[in-house]
This record gives sequence, structure tokens and C-alpha cells, in this order.
Amino acid sequence: MEPQPTPPILPLPAEVVDRIAAGEVIERPASVVRELLENALDAGACAIRVEVREGGLRLIRVADDGHGIAGDELALACQPHTTSKVRTLRDLDAIATLGFRGEALASIAAAAEMELTSATDESGLARSLMLTPGGEVAITAGSRPRGTTVAVRELFQSLPARRAMFARTGVETAKIFATLRAYALIYPAVRFTFVVDGNLLAQTPGHDLAGAVGALYGADAAREMASLGDRTSEGFTLSGAVGSRAFTFSARQHIVLAINRRPVHHRALLAAAEAGYRPLLRKGRHPLLVAQLRLSPERVDANIHPAKAEVLVRDEQRLAAALRDAVADVLGHTASAPAASRHVAIGAPPAAQPLTLRFPPARRRRGLHLAERRGRYGDLWRAPADAPVEARDLPDLALAQFDETLILARSSASDLFLVDQHRAHERVLYERLRAQYAIGSAATAIVGSPTEGAARMADRSSGVTAPAQLLLEPLLIELTPRQTQLLTPRLSELAALGIECQPFGGSTFLVRSLPQVPGAAPTAPADTRTLLIEAAEDVEDWRDHMAIALACRSAVRRGQLLSAAEQQTLLIELREVSAPVVCPHGSPLLVRLSRDWLVHTFAW
Ligand code: ADP
Ligand code: MG
Repeated sequence: MEPQPTPPILPLPAEVVDRIAAGEVIERPASVVRELLENALDAGACAIRVEVREGGLRLIRVADDGHGIAGDELALACQPHTTSKVRTLRDLDAIATLGFRGEALASIAAAAEMELTSATDESGLARSLMLTPGGEVAITAGSRPRGTTVAVRELFQSLPARRAMFARTGVETAKIFATLRAYALIYPAVRFTFVVDGNLLAQTPGHDLAGAVGALYGADAAREMASLGDRTSEGFTLSGAVGSRAFTFSARQHIVLAINRRPVHHRALLAAAEAGYRPLLRKGRHPLLVAQLRLSPERVDANIHPAKAEVLVRDEQRLAAALRDAVADVLGHTASAPAASRHVAIGAPPAAQPLTLRFPPARRRRGLHLAERRGRYGDLWRAPADAPVEARDLPDLALAQFDETLILARSSASDLFLVDQHRAHERVLYERLRAQYAIGSAATAIVGSPTEGAARMADRSSGVTAPAQLLLEPLLIELTPRQTQLLTPRLSELAALGIECQPFGGSTFLVRSLPQVPGAAPTAPADTRTLLIEAAEDVEDWRDHMAIALACRSAVRRGQLLSAAEQQTLLIELREVSAPVVCPHGSPLLVRLSRDWLVHTFAW
């Protein structure tokens, strides 16, 4: 394909300037990196090298092999509101580039010493422009292959208070790295190199997403990621990859969302992506996930935030639901017993192919995120078998109970299984409750309210009744004001779920009935408080949290003797659930010792 001639850089007309979200573009060193990365990507770069010193305060240098800036346009590019990307108001309504305000270079030049070197062809001839915040300009001839290098030195030197805010250079370097990672995951075909204080910290192969993930998070993470495929729905497509539930972080920054290839921070979409993991993640743990949404540019407004970090999307709810369902769908097929089986396929054939890693594993990073690298269970246990557990492989014959905690069982393929009785039962009950609560269904209307003293309550979605047990003595529970505020609007829904609970003045509630979990002993009144606290959580999926709490409290305990028939029933029930290898809290519930492994170990 013939390269398109690069459009000239021109000042934006006043009416466009007026409509641009005003505000601070350069808040911190990482903002400089973001703007320079975006410029390099807009210039069609295939390779981008980012170098920082002292958290970016001393130096940020970004070099690309993009189309370059003509020598006579260098000075203009650094003026406020000059750009080659946007011309008219109409362009603002359908922004196709990452940059659109023509402000970044000017803002950087106002806050630091900036040196811009660029060449537009392979003649080797380049032009360099030196700018200081004082406004001195010097243009010199230089040499470089096609592309642009921007060096930013002594950021915020004229703003000592601001500069002091970034004294902890490690924190800033981590922020910069997070920024770079996001772009590297969204643009995996571009080769990103990151050099910190003279040391190479990361380099992506510039090939595909698996390669980028491998380079940034290690080969394990890449191997365990599952592709979202290319999902097209009315008006948008969704692609990317979903990290394994066993590979989690304490921070949410490893969920990368892009809309039309622009990384965005969008609360509702982030929450939706995580909701897709329910109930596979432990509380406080966050996954690695890359989701790219593409929709027609008219449906996105990127011009609402000075740092372009937030965008406005139309049909936000539909997008969020699609994202949540896609993640759940992929995980449903790949829910893995941590560490034991890498790609566990359960039930129907996977809709998405696991990503294949085509590049050698990345170098290990030291310092920045080493502590975050592993999910909690990674090292918890080592199971001998590494093969997938499929639904048909699950045990169907209970052999014995061990220590009143585990059921020893065998499958039709003669594999030996250890099944944690509590976790297995928890899983079974949880899935029943989910079905009963219709969690995840679109229905939110409450069908009637419970009649006085009724022992069976109306289910909110289907009119089916959720069984409840009346308490002989109503219980008084005291919550915090914040919990009260959250719980109050949920009371009628709680009633439909079997918890009849009335306000009793201030932040006190009177509980008259508790849910009766099908197939379990009655809910103990002692657990009422826990249930209400889950129901009053400041999360959208409080119903799910409640179902988890209820399942946990109603499941058979460790230390409980089970008859042979009870053991057998539990195994059969487990075969029916959708994710039979993890409990609702996300912990493994069974271990398989495969026949092959036994044969090998004992040399039979
Ligand atoms: P914007 O990206 O919003 O247009 P900037 O101030 O970031 O504004 O850049 C101004 C102009 O300079 C851009 O429109 C582009 O034409 C040119 N430019 C900046 N960086 C690069 C680069 N790395 N490669 C090629 N052109 C660049
Ligand atoms: Mg820009």
C-alpha cells in the first residue's frame, strides 16, 4: 500500500479550540509519556523506545520510527493548538487518532526542556529543535533514520513544589510502566522497549497479544490467558484476552480497556469486566485482562477529559453486559483448578481458543511488581497431574471419607480424586442459589411483596417462590449508617430472596425470616448478621456475595461425618454444576491423581 502523504500541521480554528476539554494535560511524568506514546502511535510507528531517568524527572526520551515531522513544521508543532489530526468541528465528533487537541507538545515545552529531532525519510537527514520553558529556540541539522525522538529534561524544574511531589521516583517509574504496558497490550503489533535508568526493563516482540503479555507478565500468564475471540454484536466488536483466575493482582491496573484503541478508564466497564469473573476471584484480587471495544467513532466522545483518560460512550449498559458475558463465557470454559490443570475445559467445547505463545518467555522483571506476580494459590499446592479435567472425567464413585474432610473417589477413567466435602457442597449450593436468585438475569422487577408471615416468598424474576424459614424469635441486627443507607432500598428484593427484614429505627433492623437453601440444613440464625452485611455491601453484585455467604454457611462442614449415600449424592450433584473444580470463593475443591501419574509414580 502506498503510504498516505502526511497532512500538514496547522493551527486549529477558534471554534474548535473552544470545544476542546480544557485542563491540565501534563500532571505528572507519566502524562508526558502517555502523550509522547500517543504521538508515536498516531505517526504509525512500528517500534517505540521509551527511556526514563529518575522517575522521568531527569529525562524522558521517546523515540519512534513513524512518519516524522518536516523540518519546517517542528516549531509549529510545539505551538498550542496546532495539529495535523483535526481540522473542523465535525472531526471532533468522530476522532480517529489518539491526539486531537494539538496541545501536548506545547504543554510539555512549557514545563520542561524539550528537544525534538525528526526525519521524514531514510536520507539520514534530520532536524532538531531545542526549546526551553523560557522560550529559547535553536534549530540544528542532525542525523537519524525516519522517525521522531522527543527528549524531555528536568520536568517541572520551574515548579519546585510540583517536582517535589514526584520525589519517590520508584512510584513514578511504576506509573510510567503501567502507562506503557497499557499501550503495549492495546498495540501488540508495535514493539515497545522500556529502559529505566540505563537498564532494559521490558521489551515486547511487536507481534501479537500473547507475545506482549508474555514479555510483560511472563510466559505463565500468557499461556493461561484465553482469547475473547472476535465478538461482533450490533454496532460494536469486542476482542482481547482474559487472564486466568489464578493469576491475580491486588491492584486493578492490570485490567486494560480500550475503546477504539484508546486506553480508557471507565468505571462501569471495568466493573463489568470483573463481574464476568464472579465467583472465581477472591475478594480484593483483580485479574489481568485486555479488552478492546470497537464502535463507530460517532458513538464515543473522547473529548471530555483533559488527559483523555475518560470517555463517554453511548449504550454503555449494553457494552458492559456484553463485556461481562464474554468474560464469563470464556472463563466458564477455561475455569481452571489453579496450578493443577492449566486449561480445564468443562462441558461444551470452548468458544475461544487459548492464546498460544509464539515467543520465548520474557525476561523476569525485578523490583517493580515481583511481589504481585503470582496469584495466591500458585504456590499453595502442587498437584501431580497437569492435564485438563473435563466434565466427563469427574469422579462418579465415592470410595471413602478421609478424616471427615475429604471424599476419596474414582472416575470412570480410574483416576483417583480427593474432593473437599465442604467446598464441593458449597459449589453445589451456590449454583442452586444463583439459579434461584436469577443472578445475572436482566430481571430486576420485584414480583409482589411477601405476604405477612408467609413462609415462601415470591422470586423477583419468575414469580417462582424462594423458600424461607420463619424465625421463631425475630432477630435485631444493628448496622452502620452507611450499611443502612445501602440496605434500605434493597429490602423488598431481600424479602423476595427469603430474608424478611424491617427497619426498626435508626440503623437497627428486625429480621423475621431467613432463606431456606434447597438441599441444606436450615440457615442458622447466628449467620444472619453476616448475611445482612453482605446484602449491605457497596457493590453491585451484592446478591452474588450473599449467595456465596449463604452457600458457605449452609454447606456441610469439615469434621462432619457423611454416610456413603451422602458422599455419593454430593459427587453426582457436583457433576451437574458449571464450574466443578473451584468453590465459590475461587479455591480448588478437588485434586486429581491420574491413573497415568499413579502408574508412573509407583512404576506399576
Ligand atoms: P496532537 O497530537 O493533538 O495533534 P501534539 O501537540 O501532541 O498534538 O502534536 C502536534 C503535532 O505534531 C501532531 O499533530 C503531529 O502532526 C506532530 N507530531 C507530534 N509528535 C509526532 C511524532 N512522534 N511523529 C510525527 N508527528 C508528530
Ligand atoms: Mg498528541
